[in-house]
Amino acid sequence: MFDKLKSAFSSVVNAFTERTLSENEINELLGKLEIDMLESDVAYEVAQNILSDLRQQLANEKVKRATDTSDIIIGKFKQSIEDVFAKAATIDVFSKIAEKNSTGQPYVITFLGINGTGKTTTIAKFANMLKKKGLSVVIAAGDTHRAGAIEQVSEHADRLGIKVVSQRYGSDPAAVARDAVIYAKTHHINIVIVDTAGRIQTSKNLMDEMTKIVRVVKPDLKIFVGDALAGNDAISQAKEFLSATDFDGVILTKIDADARGGAALSIASVTGRPILYLGVGQEYDDLIPFEPSFFTKNLFNRQAVAAN
Ligand code: GDP
Repeated sequence: MFDKLKSAFSSVVNAFTERTLSENEINELLGKLEIDMLESDVAYEVAQNILSDLRQQLANEKVKRATDTSDIIIGKFKQSIEDVFAKAATIDVFSKIAEKNSTGQPYVITFLGINGTGKTTTIAKFANMLKKKGLSVVIAAGDTHRAGAIEQVSEHADRLGIKVVSQRYGSDPAAVARDAVIYAKTHHINIVIVDTAGRIQTSKNLMDEMTKIVRVVKPDLKIFVGDALAGNDAISQAKEFLSATDFDGVILTKIDADARGGAALSIASVTGRPILYLGVGQEYDDLIPFEPSFFTKNLFNRQAVAAN
């Protein structure tokens, strides 16, 4: 009886001190966040999804009368964005490598993406990172279509002291990948990185080529390389590669030249696949692990700079 009285009393007090957010307040702040996201290169459909989620959450939100509502809305906005990245989860590449290697097998990674996105440089950076962690790597020059592709990947590998397995132009990429896996097994190499063609006429060609590579070498990880500067193109490429290859994770390049970072949010949201690493320059060490707070930090830092 006493408890009942107490709870009745506290609900009266709350009625005086708490309120729900008004439609106007929500509209005003969400309108600003929409512009911020679109200016940061977030795809329109992705921005709308985030805003409609946020609108639902805010409609039921009780706030103390004296609180600054913008703090609450921005806090929830950051949370929604981090939720997009959390939903895409992440992959601990190093423990996966150790797991596979413990069975006496090399870990096989295919790199996918359109020419010009920075795929070859990213392969070199990734191989460099693995080597620095004490792991051995062999690269399969699997882009046998594009003139110069084999030389380009070999040049990087030479500089890094990494073996490349290659065949002639026009040869079957699955056969090159298989040779590299056999080389890795006989030489006890930890990881095989397979470069793949960056431009195939249709998504069916891409699918056929990937299906064959998958059947022949059974890659443990498929990484899509996207260019953060390519805006909506990067997102449509990611969608196309996802349906053709069902990749596992993403590396975004040229983040150093992309002050906005919306591509990371859009690609994670549209594909549901994690962003694993970011390319942040042209040197071999310019590859950093992706942090889910990257996008919001970037967005709000930009606002702080703009306000000064
Ligand atoms: P591919 O055709 O996809 O294999 O692309 P490349 O690896 O040849 O890269 C194309 C260009 O992008 C080169 O000039 C690279 O140096 C540059 N590049 C690659 N990654 C990055 C990056 O993270 N930041 C910057 N600024 N440039 C990059």
